[in-house]
Amino acid sequence: MKETPTLAIVVPCYKEEAVLHETHRRLSTLLDNLVSGKRISPESYILYVNDGSTDQTWPIIKDLYQNTSYACGLNLAGNVGHQNALFAGLEAVIERCDIAVSIDADLQDDINVIPEMIDRYQEGYDIVYGVRKERKTDTFFKRNTALAFYRLMKAMGVKSVYNHADYRLMSQRAVRQLCRFRERNLYLRGMVPLIGYRTACVYYNRDKRFAGESKYPLRKMLNFAIDGITSFSVKPVRMIFWIGCIFILIALCVTAWTLRAYFYHNTVPGWSSLMISLWFVGGIILVALGIVGEYIGKIYIEVKDRPRYNEEELLLR
Ligand code: UDP
Ligand code: MG
Repeated sequence: MKETPTLAIVVPCYKEEAVLHETHRRLSTLLDNLVSGKRISPESYILYVNDGSTDQTWPIIKDLYQNTSYACGLNLAGNVGHQNALFAGLEAVIERCDIAVSIDADLQDDINVIPEMIDRYQEGYDIVYGVRKERKTDTFFKRNTALAFYRLMKAMGVKSVYNHADYRLMSQRAVRQLCRFRERNLYLRGMVPLIGYRTACVYYNRDKRFAGESKYPLRKMLNFAIDGITSFSVKPVRMIFWIGCIFILIALCVTAWTLRAYFYHNTVPGWSSLMISLWFVGGIILVALGIVGEYIGKIYIEVKDRPRYNEEELLLR
């Protein structure tokens, strides 16, 4: 643990021309205070990652780089999405910082808890999550869809921190470990808990966006949710298998009922055999799909090639 660590703030920006100047003003004031308080080293900086914006975002970042302190820039050659842009930023700062904080360009997350995050780091925590206290400023719709989403993730067996988005501090070794995850479909808030180092939380109130508009419309949010589940869980496939088993159970009941009808009432010829085979065949197909899916799930996990473990300490002689 360094006394005055070098801090890198990573900010993904997509069409953020409306907020960048103000964002940089606020962040550099914060860095000024932290540097003069000897909490972080004067080499600390802010890396703005331009995620293939088509507006003035990159020219503004270049201007900030040339004319102000702390600002650095990374220009991605196309729009790759928030998660990939953030990952790119973290990979870029890994060798040049002791701690990295990731935050959205609109500063909806309260930057005044960054000093508290650094305190936790000094106490020996490698990952510090920024957690929203309440969601008053979000619309009723966003609040409830978010809640449903966290519940669903939990049911699917994905470890994630409730009400935490991508506002977090990570030590250099945590970032390095994160970069060992070679998967394409990034869902960072599910990946970070897999790192396994000591974690802490700091709490804050989330603000409204002060300018510009949300880059996460419902469609993107849904895709993100589906990504989160399918990148972390093979449970949906396993569900197919169990639904198949239920079908076969139903088939047994239907068979009994059909035979009864066949013997006691006058049924239309062909009806009984159709009824019975309908449910049995459906059930068997689902079970077969579930079994195939189980293998595909295994292949999927192998292909991801995630690190098997993360060393905390190794004492050798
Ligand atoms: N963002 C990005 N690439 C994208 C979409 C968004 O880098 O394709 C960035 C955006 O500039 C912002 C952050 O991701 O810094 C979060 O986006 P936003 O604030 O619009 O989402 P919300 O807070 O409404 O969920
Ligand atoms: Mg936002």
